Parts: sequence; structure tokens; C-alpha cells
Amino acid sequence: MTDDAGAVDRGLRGLGVSPGRAAGPVVRMAAPPVLPPPGTAHSERTVGEGLAAVADELEARAARAGGAAGEILEAQAMMAADPMLREAAEDLVKEGLDPAHALDAAFATHREALVAAGGYFAERAADLDDLRNRAVAAVLGLPMPGVPDPGHPFVLVAEDLSPADTAGLSGDVLALVTEKGGPTSHTAILARGRGLPAVVACEGALGLAEGALVAVDGGSGEVVAGLEPGEVARIQAEAAAERTRLSGSRGPGRTADGHPVKLLLNIGSAADLEVEDLGAGAEGVGLFRTELLYLGRRSTPGFDEQVAAYAAVFRACPDVVVRTLDAGTDKPLPFLDLPDEPNPALGIRGLRVDRLRPEVLDTQLAALAEAARATGTEPSVMAPMVATAAEAAAFAERARAAGIARVGVMIEVPAAALLAAEILAEVDFLSIGTNDLGQYTFAADRQHPGLADLLDPAQPALLRLVELCASAGRTAGKPVGVCGEAAGDPRLAPILAGLGVTSLSMSAVALPAVREALAGHTLEACQELAREALSGRRYQRSAVVTCGPGRGGP
Ligand code: PEP
Ligand code: MG
Repeated sequence: MTDDAGAVDRGLRGLGVSPGRAAGPVVRMAAPPVLPPPGTAHSERTVGEGLAAVADELEARAARAGGAAGEILEAQAMMAADPMLREAAEDLVKEGLDPAHALDAAFATHREALVAAGGYFAERAADLDDLRNRAVAAVLGLPMPGVPDPGHPFVLVAEDLSPADTAGLSGDVLALVTEKGGPTSHTAILARGRGLPAVVACEGALGLAEGALVAVDGGSGEVVAGLEPGEVARIQAEAAAERTRLSGSRGPGRTADGHPVKLLLNIGSAADLEVEDLGAGAEGVGLFRTELLYLGRRSTPGFDEQVAAYAAVFRACPDVVVRTLDAGTDKPLPFLDLPDEPNPALGIRGLRVDRLRPEVLDTQLAALAEAARATGTEPSVMAPMVATAAEAAAFAERARAAGIARVGVMIEVPAAALLAAEILAEVDFLSIGTNDLGQYTFAADRQHPGLADLLDPAQPALLRLVELCASAGRTAGKPVGVCGEAAGDPRLAPILAGLGVTSLSMSAVALPAVREALAGHTLEACQELAREALSGRRYQRSAVVTCGPGRGGP
């Protein structure tokens, strides 16, 4: 946490990455505590009291969370209450260390032992690091690090959030504001998935004081501080009214003159699949990101567990496009034990994991086929990060041999977009992942807050690749959809429709505004917008962004 807390008087601006407005008190996610030099640390608690405070806090959160999240927190609370750990730290205090350094040293010894044991134990080192940070903060009297859960509605302000942090957020979070993060970072994606207004790359956000009343606009990226309680109530009421208005929107995706553009959902599990969304006109699932099932795991989920998870989705919605495991770089999965790489975004990720661990894809394809059989559905299955027609052909052969009827690939690498026609000769459909396609087209890290202008999906170079794919689809008579974040942007939807894209897949919250945008244009108007966008004359969301202090890195 920076020292400038409370320094913000009125307004900040970042990148609005998940639309909607919210207002409420700020709760800041504390950074890990910094150990003062030995001998200078002021302790507010003994080692035993610090560890007990950590265990109590985790117990209370476990009780509030319940379910699987509750079990994980319960296990962490038990680790904090481990008498061996406490005794080791107390012995160090007897030898003259202050409690914070004693805890730091005791945790370090425990950590080394776990890492040396390897495998499952080594993966618990991250849990220990989290406990160490909490215990050191507790004895130093600093705010508890990690995702807060104050027990009342709040606007979460953090430097950045990992996918695991975002997944563990309580239902009390009204909005997210982070200093780092980019428009296609997983924080942004998960926020959209949960319908939480979010502003990322918001320089100065950590200067917002704890408890300050703020308004957040996840569309414009504005964060206004210094609100009166009455203003908070008014903004909350207006936001609720807007949600109600949009939730009244119904029906399939159509331009004003009836040209169909399927409106689909991006989900991470059956829990994301609300019956109301399907009732409100979502025409299926266009992207089921299966890696959430693998996230935070110490070993691959077994065949039966996978079948159950996939079948739950197929039962809720028969028209699903499943993406096979997309691991690596921004979605690290420890159990895969992938080698460290100097440049992981360009290394073994997505379908390329299959080069090292073919059994992972084999099990997943077999589980998908079994789930389809058990539910009497015909899901489509696609691979991420395909770069060549040969990769597409090999994947299609494996998937069909496993019993999958409809096979596709994602277009996320410019090489694949350039070969869309050849790839479509091998598969039944394409789905364009504009998040990665933007990253790889512009050589711009998708998580980098200083490169937002390059990651703008309205960039004509990106749209020309989309057009190549759409036109290959038209020639082949096969569907070409967009499932990256661009699909959920109402300003882009008519342009993508005009380029010839046949479906748009997005989070449920984005769907009503996209439906409205399509319905407001004829196909001819969409095509005119597309022509202008391809030329670069129209709709450039952001001009060149400067990388000032604090915006240098992800
Ligand atoms: C994409 O890259 O656009 C995409 C949909 O995949 P992900 O964001 O999960 O990498
Ligand atoms: Mg991707």
C-alpha cells in the first residue's frame, strides 16, 4: 500500500473495462507487509496472538463463504493454527528475534521443507506465503493482506487482482478499481462475467482513503471520490433502474432489418449459466472456458469429475461451444509442471501444451464426449492458440476420433487468421479470440495498462484480420464468431456484424446493450460502419497512450 492513502480529493480516470455504475465505501486490498529492519519492528502482538488472529479471521471467512471456498479457507486456518509453526517462531523470539522476524524465519524454514518435498507439497508453498504475509501484518498491526471481506457492500480498490483473487470475491463487492491491469486482463474478464463495474489502469487509485465514498463508472473509467451518502444512494438507485431497463430486453440478435447475429454467452462453469440469461435471449454458449475447472488444482481433475462438470453445463444449455484447456502465461496451471520460459506468451500455451502433455487433451476430449453422450447433446469443441492448418487438422482428427461431432478452432494468432480458408477446410467453424489476436497482432501484452491504444479492438489491422476470417467463412458456408471481449462492446457489435461475423459471444451482462446496438442498425448501415472502421477513419477508442510513472508495467 502506498503512503498516499487519502490523497485523492475528487476524480480519477482509468480504463472502464466492465460497464455499469456503482457507489459505496472504499475497502483497499492491502499489499503484503514490508519487514522493517531487524530490531526496529514495533510489535503489537506476540507470535501466538498474531497466528491466532490469522486463524480466527480465516475461520470467520470460511463460515461466511461456505461450500468449496469455505473448505479451502478452513484448511488455511488450520495451517495457521499449526502448533509446530508457532513453537518454531516462539523459540526464535526466545533467541532474541522480534515477533515479525521470528515468524518470517519460521515460515521460511517451513517453506523450504515443503519445496524440498516437491510435488503436491511444493505447491502448498504459495498458501504458506499468504499465511506468512497475514501473520507478519497481524503482529505489526498492519491491515490484513489479501482479498478483504468486511461484511458490508464496498468498492474494492487494489493494485491488481490475480484470477484467484477475483474468483474469491465476496458478493458484497459493488465495483473494482485497480491501479494496474489492462482491458483484456483476466481481472477485466472476470469482472464482466460477474457484472461488476470495473476500472483498471487507474493511476492514483491507491490514494483513495479507506471508507471514502466513491462512484465508479465501469464504462467511462471515471472514479469520483468525496461523495455524500445521499449521492451514493441516488447513484445506486439509478444503476438499479438502468439494470432493470436493460434486463427487459429480449429475443435473438438481429439487425434492424432482421439479419441474424447469434448472441451467445461466455462462461467458466455451470454456475455462470443463469436460466434467466437463456430466457432473456442468449442463444447458447459461445465460449465455455474450461480452465476454471483446473485452476488452483494440485493435480489434473479426473475423468469422472470432468464428465460431471461438462454434463452440468450441457444439461443447462444444449448449444455449447467448449474450449479445451487453455493453460500458460496469463493462466498458469501449476499441476502441468510446464518448464519456465523466458517468453511464456510466445511459448508452450493453449493447444501447444499438448506437445508436452498429450494425455491432458485425450482425457478432456474423452470426458467431453462422454458428457455429451450422457446428456444427449452435441456440443461443439474448439482448441485455443492454433497457428497452422496442420495443427487444426491434427486437433480435428483427435476430437472426432474421441466422438466429438462439431470441431472448431479459435483464431488468436495472426498466422491462423491469414490461413482462415485453409483452416476452415479442416474444421466446422472458427471463433475469433480478439483478446489474444490483438496481443499477437500488435506485439502488445494484453495485461499492459500502458498499451491500451494498441489493444483497442477497433484498430483497423485487427479488424482486417477479422474480415479475412469472416469472408473465408462466407465462402466455405461455415460460421465465424467472435468470443473475445470485443464481442461484448456495443460500439463494436454493428461493425463486427458488418464484417460478416455470424455470432457474438460475451458475458451475460453485456448482452442486452449489444442486442440494442444491433437492433439500431440495418445490415447495410453495419457494412458502411465496417468499411469506415477498416479504413481507420472511424471509431478509434483511444489515441496513443503515454506510459507515465506508475504505468510502466503490468
Ligand atoms: C481471447 O483471447 O480473445 C479469448 C477469448 O480467450 P482468453 O481471453 O480466455 O485468452
Ligand atoms: Mg485467448
